[in-house]
Parts: sequence; structure tokens; C-alpha cells
Amino acid sequence: MTTIRWGLIGASNIAREYVINAIRANGGEVVGVMSADAGRANAYAAANGIPSATDSLDALLGRDDIDAVYISTTNELHRDQALAAAKAGKHILCEKPLALDLSDAHRMVDAARSAGVVFATNHHLRNAGAHRAMRAAIAEGRIGKPLAARVFHAVYLPPFLQGWRINAPAAGGGVILDIAVHDADTLRFVLQDEPDSVVAMTQSGGMGESGLADAVMTTVTFRSGLIAQTHDAFTAKYAGTGFDVHGTEGSLIARDVMTQKPVGSIVLSNESGEHVIDFDRGDLYVRALGAFHGAVRGEGEPAATGEDGIRSLAFGLAVAEAAKTGGTVKVETGL
Ligand code: NDP
Repeated sequence: MTTIRWGLIGASNIAREYVINAIRANGGEVVGVMSADAGRANAYAAANGIPSATDSLDALLGRDDIDAVYISTTNELHRDQALAAAKAGKHILCEKPLALDLSDAHRMVDAARSAGVVFATNHHLRNAGAHRAMRAAIAEGRIGKPLAARVFHAVYLPPFLQGWRINAPAAGGGVILDIAVHDADTLRFVLQDEPDSVVAMTQSGGMGESGLADAVMTTVTFRSGLIAQTHDAFTAKYAGTGFDVHGTEGSLIARDVMTQKPVGSIVLSNESGEHVIDFDRGDLYVRALGAFHGAVRGEGEPAATGEDGIRSLAFGLAVAEAAKTGGTVKVETGL
């Protein structure tokens, strides 16, 4: 396969802002877009230089000149669209959360495996140079044994995104499925460890409607015994983001790294003082799409697999359950 040809399922902001560029930067071609609304599909295609538009999923998936699909609709739609794409033999890059229910996420990943197509989850943060550098520093033993981590991922949801995320429980809205799942993936990737159990408290701080949480704080135990805290929010205008990992021999202090841009800083603090750690500033989504194209060509794995998507969803569901019950909940992935 020379050029990988893509169909977009969903006329979304994330495709417009990042993923279309990342496909093209890797030599891929976006040949079609599908929206539930024909007018929106046409306008989106015209605005983004996409040669065709449709409001029919079957029409998009029936095309022989589409090799892969990017699913970036609202969360409740991912399952059926992914199952249909696997049936049609298309490689699949699916947005997180994969689904609203763990068994559905398993069905999606299993269907892709049975169809022999690549399935990936678009967890962008593990493609950040900052997180890759932190993972390497920890693996090299530069902080000794990691004991604790803190993720600061409380941001302000910009007004143009204050739609289904804050008012549509049926669409999988709320801060947990939107942001906490990214924390899970980032922690797993950087620590090379698996979450074991969680306790959590949510808040509806003025933005979330219909009972949806717009902030959550979680404490997690990992298999190694490490403990982690995460704070996610839609409502924190001035918090800034960060990620600290504290070990027996040093601490990694990263700032402005829980973001879609290749920005931020990392300092290693240890007995000999403070040391700035440099890292690659490449575009996160371009890197993700490069790995996906490689996987389609039989060269390696996607950056985040379907299994990674199952694991982050399992974490999110455990956080939601823990917040509801006030108890400690095991992260059960079914893997
Ligand atoms: P959007 O709200 O932009 O798009 C989601 C859907 O909403 C679209 O598929 C579209 O439906 C519909 N829609 C978009 N604009 C309009 C409009 N003006 N009027 C009516 N409907 C509209 O969502 P996001 O791009 O923010 O998120 C999409 C998915 O991507 C989610 O699953 C989210 O969790 C994930 N995401 C992932 C990120 C990452 O970095 N990994 C970052 C941001 C989001 P239709 O296609 O039918 O037109």
C-alpha cells in the first residue's frame, strides 16, 4: 500500500484541529468525511479540502478507495461505527473513550482482530516527547524506585466545546471519560505499571449539567505499590497542567505537559541538584499517525492499541463507580 487513504467518521473539532494535518503530514490522504448531517458534511469537506462528503456510514465504508477510518464522533457512537468499519475491512483509529461500556470496547477490539485490521486508540499524550522522556528517565533508574505520582489535568473547557461534554450523559459526557482516561493512559505509559484500584470524588462546579461531573480527584494504587493522585476538571481557568513522579532517588517535575501541544518542561531533582531534561518537540498527533501508518504496513504497533483503550476505559469506569459509591474500586479490565 503506497498512500493510505482515510475516511473520517465524524465532522469533529479534533479532526479539524489536529488529525487531518497529522494524516497528511504522514503522506496519507483524506478522501471522504461522513457526518450525520449532509449539510455539515459538505461544509466540513469544503472547509478542510476533503474531496467528498456523505451522511451515510454505509456509503463511506462501502468505498474501495478507503483503507482506514478515523472515528471521532461523540462517545456513544464509537461502538457501532467501529464494528461496522471492522466488518467492512477498514483499519480503525478510534477516539477515546472507546465506548461507554467495557464489554462493548472488548467487542470492538475483538472484531478488528477477527477482521485482520489494525485497531488503535487515539491517546495522544503518550506521543509527547515530554512523556517519552519521563518514561525513559524512570526506566533508566534516574529517580530510583518510583513511589508516587501526581497528575494535574484541571483545565478550562473552551466555550466552543461546552456542548455534549457538559450536558449529555447519554453521549458519554463528563470529565471522567473525557480527561481521566487520558491520565490513565499517560500514567501507564510513563510508569510502565498498571492501576490496581481507585478511590475518587467528583464535583459539579457550575459547568456540568444533568448530573455530569465537571471535576474529579482520584487516588490510585498501582501493582508496584506506587500511589498516584489525579485532578481533572473543565472548570479551572488558571491552574496550568503538570505531572510529577517521585522516587527513592529523585523527582521528575514536569509542567505544562498534559496538553495537545509539544510544549512544557521537565526538571529532574535529586541529590546533586536540579537538572533540566530536554525532549523532542514533535507534534503528538503526527507521531501517532506515523505509528498507525507503520502498523497498517505491517511495521510495528500503533502508539496506543485497542488494549490500551480498553485499559483506560476500565480505569474511567472504576473512577466513576468509586465516586458514586464512596468505596475503593478495583480496575477490572477483562484482559
Ligand atoms: P465535536 O463536538 O467537535 O464533534 C463530535 C460530533 O459532534 C461530530 O461528529 C459532529 O457530528 C457533531 N458536531 C460537531 N460540530 C457540530 C455542530 N456545529 N453542530 C452540531 N453537531 C456538531 O467533538 P470533539 O472533536 O471535541 O471530540 C470528538 C471525539 O474525539 C470524542 O470522542 C472525544 O472524546 C475525542 N477527543 C479526543 C482528543 C484527543 O486528543 N485524543 C481531543 C478531543 C476530543 P457529525 O459528525 O454527525 O456531524
